Amino acid sequence: MTDRTPLMVGNWKLNLDHHQGIQLVQKLAWSLKDAEHDYEAVEVAVAPSFTSLRSVQTLIDADELGIKLSSQDISSHAKGAYTGEVSAEQLTALGVDFAIVGHSERRDYHGESDTIVGAKVAAAIAAGITPILCVGEKLEVRQAGEHVSLTLSQIDGALEGLSAEQVADVVVAYEPVWAIGTGEVATPEDAQEMAEAIRARVAETVDPDVAAGMRILYGGSVKADNVAAIMAKPDVDGALVGGASLVVEQFAAIAGFR
Ligand code: PGA
Repeated sequence: MTDRTPLMVGNWKLNLDHHQGIQLVQKLAWSLKDAEHDYEAVEVAVAPSFTSLRSVQTLIDADELGIKLSSQDISSHAKGAYTGEVSAEQLTALGVDFAIVGHSERRDYHGESDTIVGAKVAAAIAAGITPILCVGEKLEVRQAGEHVSLTLSQIDGALEGLSAEQVADVVVAYEPVWAIGTGEVATPEDAQEMAEAIRARVAETVDPDVAAGMRILYGGSVKADNVAAIMAKPDVDGALVGGASLVVEQFAAIAGFR
């Protein structure tokens, strides 16, 4: 794998039980096989609910599928009295490669602050799981013209205290909240503007080489028919896909955008 190998992640959110999950992955694998998908050229991952991780992992391992596995969240705690939490170590034991961290739905509905998100990023890295750190502004912030500063403050908050070596293990996903699940896709120029700003910020505050090698995804109503234009932008290295990742034809086409 070269630096910044494109990465396409399907975030299933609160959809599909484990039976439906393995069916979707099986169909996705067939579809990608038909398309002669090169997993070295474009990495593909799915993020099922915690309850489906084990089944999906078993299928991926048994059939040696090239698809990678992500969780949708991760605990910042290692163990103990944290009812309902799932630790990095537990996820590592399931062969999870990535963990989505700080998705706007977690920030909004579960009160996750930049500090909590930062602790989750650190917990993932310590366990050898690549965090997919989600950042992005709400509509009113964009309308006020403060989208870049808000998003960069989320980056600063989540990466604070991490070494350059640790940040080198982070994938960032820029997801403008107004474009998530709304059909309202940011323009490729919007995605590029923010990806470029994030890279410049990481170059300044962490390390220029780490910034140059950091994968920055775009997320928000990505579909088969808009992925190519987004991926054509120089600082966009992949997509975090919600709704369209539940439709095999859509997600297989997104994975093969080129
Ligand atoms: P969407 O979701 O593709 O349905 O807009 C993206 C996400 O929330 O990760």
